Amino acid sequence: VAGGFGHPVVVAAELSDGPALPCAPGLPDELFDHDGQITKRPVRALTLSALAPRPGEHLWDIGGGSGSVAIEWLLTHGRNRATCIEGDAARAQRLQGNAARLGVDRLHCVTGRAPEALEGLEPPDAVFVGGGLSEALLDRLTALPGGTRIVANAVTLESEALLSAARARLGGDLLRIELAQAQPIGTRTGWKSAYPIVQWSVTL
Ligand code: SAH
Repeated sequence: VAGGFGHPVVVAAELSDGPALPCAPGLPDELFDHDGQITKRPVRALTLSALAPRPGEHLWDIGGGSGSVAIEWLLTHGRNRATCIEGDAARAQRLQGNAARLGVDRLHCVTGRAPEALEGLEPPDAVFVGGGLSEALLDRLTALPGGTRIVANAVTLESEALLSAARARLGGDLLRIELAQAQPIGTRTGWKSAYPIVQWSVTL
């Protein structure tokens, strides 16, 4: 497994018989060491699509968790940069381990709580909010320069209400992601629904 500079993943696939990372976002959850707090693969793929990384851009990944979103952002281009903001020290350490193992140890991590921990950071081109959504955080983010892209995912009604109000104020798109996966019910199979996720994306 390699990654992080141009298309080294392709090189790895050509040079060895070992495992190689796929090039499309939405990597398997098992590639990331995590404690259950991870944006699951299909939602992560939609999230990366909305974040729309371009070469050389900088991402703030707020509520970094396992780092999966920032790591996939970095894997899209060797010159991309990403800063995770994570309030939990054990998760901050875990996400840096994931980044190192997946070949993107240029991931920067701040252990602290948003919005306070954002002070002094180099400005982003795009921001993902996967945790820590609040009125104060949205106020801080919507004061970023025009052209900044913001993508925020909400699971609870409370954070969904914040995103709905933000969209009324600032525009952008709301997407409701409702997914179900086939699982055994006794000897048969049924659809197991995940919590619906509401995703707001906007370009300031
Ligand atoms: N996108 C992540 C999962 C995020 S889970 C992944 O794919 O792995 C939400 C995370 O937000 C948790 O790790 C939690 O510790 C963190 N968090 C919650 N409130 C926060 C805040 N105010 N500042 C920083 N991190 C926060």
